Amino acid sequence: MWKIESMQRLQAFKYELVPDGQQERQMRRFAGSCRFVFNQALALQKERYAHGEKTLGYAGLCKMLTSWRNNPDTAWLAEAPVHPLQPALKDLEWAYSNFFAQRAGFPRFKKKGQHDSFRYPDPTQFKLDQGNSRVFLPKLGWLRDRNSRDVDGTVKSLTVRQSCGQWFVSLQTEREVEQPRHPSTTAVGIDLGVARFATLSDGTVYAPLNSFKRHETALRKAQQAMSRKTTFSSNWKKAKARVQRLHARIGHARRDVLHKTSTAISQNHALVFVEDLQVRNLSKSAAGTTEAPGRNVRTKSGLNKSILDQGWAEFRRQLEYKLEWRGGWLIAVPPQNTSRTCPCCGQVSAANRRSQARFACVECGFAEHADLVGAINILRAGHARFACEVSDAVRSPAAGTHRSDLGAAQCRA
Ligand SMILES: [Zn+2]
Repeated sequence: MWKIESMQRLQAFKYELVPDGQQERQMRRFAGSCRFVFNQALALQKERYAHGEKTLGYAGLCKMLTSWRNNPDTAWLAEAPVHPLQPALKDLEWAYSNFFAQRAGFPRFKKKGQHDSFRYPDPTQFKLDQGNSRVFLPKLGWLRDRNSRDVDGTVKSLTVRQSCGQWFVSLQTEREVEQPRHPSTTAVGIDLGVARFATLSDGTVYAPLNSFKRHETALRKAQQAMSRKTTFSSNWKKAKARVQRLHARIGHARRDVLHKTSTAISQNHALVFVEDLQVRNLSKSAAGTTEAPGRNVRTKSGLNKSILDQGWAEFRRQLEYKLEWRGGWLIAVPPQNTSRTCPCCGQVSAANRRSQARFACVECGFAEHADLVGAINILRAGHARFACEVSDAVRSPAAGTHRSDLGAAQCRA
């Protein structure tokens, strides 16, 4: 039924950089220049808004950039390579359009040390020498990298990023691949939770990550120790390095578990259904506003922290692209009554959910772990939804049965 088609695969390859002292200083300076340009442009937009003027578009901002580079007060900007400065303006433009589309909050000023990065948007601006594990960047020269695996496809752009005291280069690539056919034909529903990270409708259970909780005490102690030191003293620097190391370890452990879990699920099942929970809404403003303070702030912020700690959004993102690479699908279903419906007799009642963990039907007596019941109901809801989407697509030939159409149908709902 499915035609073999080719599809475009976008993939990023990330390597750790091994800069010398001079290169590291330069990279910090370049990232600082990009941050300055972003903040300067944001300040300008805010000022224009305060005066009732329209926000400047990308082209207008680029003109401003030229004037800043020519201005004697900010002449040091001219020392940074020009290529990464313009993407900083692009970032601001995205931040604004995300804000206007209500996908994100109002753009904020960037702070030193947070997401230090700069990007080369065009492959003619850098050179890649994989045989010798090095990359050439304007004004930096050849930089050594830890080339863990070779890049596949055409390199489109390059980003240099600092994270927890280490520098990384990330290469965004594009290539044509044959539309894969998933080796499996099974479908599965997943219930994501706090006590169990993921419960599959086939009974598989993934334990919670809790990576942050485990390291939380150590991190808090390290942060306290850092705050007791005199800022910028050598002991402060040591304490800061310790905090950074702990942050890095937490991040690595979490990513590792998420990747292992999402890989296993995407290999075993061609069709994966998840609840269409708005993770962002759940984790948004537990504290409420000053006019309407939130209820249960303590428990909610605890739950929020757990949700963020669990990385549900990241997990979904990984599942989605891994399934797509293998020719499978991730489909979100609305979370209506998934936790209250009996999978045995169909009875819908809040009383069925005896506790956070226990489900027992008031009608037929069916009893199971509540998360497993949730996963089974998600699978059923998903089957119903998927069937109607496919038949819709078949009924209107223009829509075809392409993955992208199904994806769009899912997004519209
Ligand atoms: Zn029942």
